Amino acid sequence: MKYLNRLFAYFAIAALAVTALAQQSAPAGVPGVERLRAHVEYLASDKLEGRRTGTAGATLAAEYIAREFSRYGLRRSIGRDLPGMSILEADSPNRYLQKFPYVAGVELGENNLFYMNPRRAYDPARFRVGEDWMPLGFSSNGNVKRSKMVFAGYGISSAELKYDDYAASPVKDSVAIVFSGTPDGDNPHGQFVRAGAVRFKAAAARAAGARALLIIASETNLTDDRLAHLAYDNAGEAGIPVVVISRKLAAKILGGTNGDLSWHEKIADARKLSAGADTTNPAVVKLPNRREELISVSNLGLELSVDLVRRESPSANVIGILDGSDPTLKNETIVIGAHYDHLGHGGAGSLASTEGEIHHGADDNASGVAGVLELARIFSQQQPRPKRTIVFMAFSGEEEGLLGSNYYVNHPILPLANTIAMINMDMIGRLKDNKLVIGGVGTSPELRNLVTSGNLEHKPISLAEMSSPTRTPGKVTAVVGGNGQVTSGIVHPQRFDLTLNEDGFGPSDHSSFYARQIPVLFFWTGTHEDYHKPSDTAEKINYDGESRIVAMVAEIVRNLDRSDARPSYTLAKSESTGRSMGFRVYLGTIPNYADSTDGLLLDGVREDSPAAKAGLKAGDKIVKLAGRDVKNVYDYTSALGEMKAGQEYEAEVMRAGERVTLKITPTARK
Ligand SMILES: [Zn+2]
Repeated sequence: MKYLNRLFAYFAIAALAVTALAQQSAPAGVPGVERLRAHVEYLASDKLEGRRTGTAGATLAAEYIAREFSRYGLRRSIGRDLPGMSILEADSPNRYLQKFPYVAGVELGENNLFYMNPRRAYDPARFRVGEDWMPLGFSSNGNVKRSKMVFAGYGISSAELKYDDYAASPVKDSVAIVFSGTPDGDNPHGQFVRAGAVRFKAAAARAAGARALLIIASETNLTDDRLAHLAYDNAGEAGIPVVVISRKLAAKILGGTNGDLSWHEKIADARKLSAGADTTNPAVVKLPNRREELISVSNLGLELSVDLVRRESPSANVIGILDGSDPTLKNETIVIGAHYDHLGHGGAGSLASTEGEIHHGADDNASGVAGVLELARIFSQQQPRPKRTIVFMAFSGEEEGLLGSNYYVNHPILPLANTIAMINMDMIGRLKDNKLVIGGVGTSPELRNLVTSGNLEHKPISLAEMSSPTRTPGKVTAVVGGNGQVTSGIVHPQRFDLTLNEDGFGPSDHSSFYARQIPVLFFWTGTHEDYHKPSDTAEKINYDGESRIVAMVAEIVRNLDRSDARPSYTLAKSESTGRSMGFRVYLGTIPNYADSTDGLLLDGVREDSPAAKAGLKAGDKIVKLAGRDVKNVYDYTSALGEMKAGQEYEAEVMRAGERVTLKITPTARK
């Protein structure tokens, strides 16, 4: 009896809990498998050509999303209804679009010149752009007149690797000419992978005082060379002209006999032999004889003019608002987002083996957008309406570096201070073995709890099933009837086999929000063999799995909205992105990768970090660090590579129009 009594008490309490739950989370709608499929099939169709930011395909996607938002009655976020506004204007789907600047392409201007003026020669040798040389997409425009050229090996400079081509080849006020690639060849795991990337070579050349950088093509035919394909990564200009030159032209400049560059290759590789020893000291670099004449080619005056035209193509986030129903809580906002852009026909970011094919991006990230659309439909139909305002966002520019979400947090439509959480879905279409990854659980204890409880389903079962050995596994709560008898039960199986990650930073749009101290959750079904390839297609999506994920997100948002208190923000344990880059030191800055042309803008700094202790703040633009000018994130990273833990350095930042100098002492990266 005693046992039964206790059991009864437990059932009664459980039943109360269940009743409360049943009232509050009466399903206002469930994600529709066929709806998800229709969204993904359209967004990932050939017609949209891979939705590369700034292309017609991306515009079609944005219009589709805006039309759906309109169908669900979401409020238009841009502009306001004005007296005299026509219905067409008021109803325009454009008013769901938050446009932001984006360089979609870069082209040659009219003033690209490259010629050499040998002393006492009256007919300078001219070289044709596109045949003999080509500016790189991130090159700055500019002119170099009558400049000396200096051969500088591979043009790599890395204190970390104790390797500095510029120590042996002073290029101050000259033009540096360097081989492309690294002394390790193409080894993807070689020590020079980072320092040998062209972006870092440009930063190193500028730091060494070069007026321009000439990179010798690795392919015999210039047009076959990857560097000769004009493209811009929206990550800021180099600060100096940077061009690739044909091997033939290089041989002319360097004076190799019969177009032969092998002498210079030997010089460059000789520096590698002592790499790790101390090549920052030129004395230990064993150079072949004729060193001077091979390094310095001062007798040829270079006249160089680079003229690139960057073609801006406005891109847009699509934003729809569902106003909250509670008079007070409606001032608080929950953001549900996913990026809709993808890689177009390939190019930067593509992992395809062939060029030019449509990258369909069904999982990345038509799946996430379909999730946003279904959640917009479900919440707009929910009765009673959610208490808080829910803002649905589809971002562009994610693949190019979180450009759209960065733009939003810099130009928010509703105050960020009242944005209580951001839920991001990026690649939720490949659920396999029921494994789901959720990031950001360390950004708020309440969100972690919502994830844990949200992972439990609530399936009614009969009294007979409750004691059946074959029933669905999972915790059971009992439902008690009016006569005090248990009438049936509810079983709570786990929806997913979860992998939880603490960090609020990661390679998707939630990072932009977390950088503004907003708790975040990130849903992801993991990477796969079609990732960033044309073969990421609609028929490979697990729509049933996706609908279950979206149902879980809906439940988490519903419970988040139900709570009177907003989730508290906590600093999550970092799953260190810097370590994989090979940095030895840690500053704790949160750079804004989108906006970096004349400095490195900070979105924030981590608490208790060296950056925080130095007094760096969100909104600061670092223009100089450890004695190096910083124009973009690559300069910044290069400077970081020079720094030593425990040593004090100066950081100069622009803050509200003033140049401020701060002292910063990096710590060792663990
Ligand atoms: Zn992607």
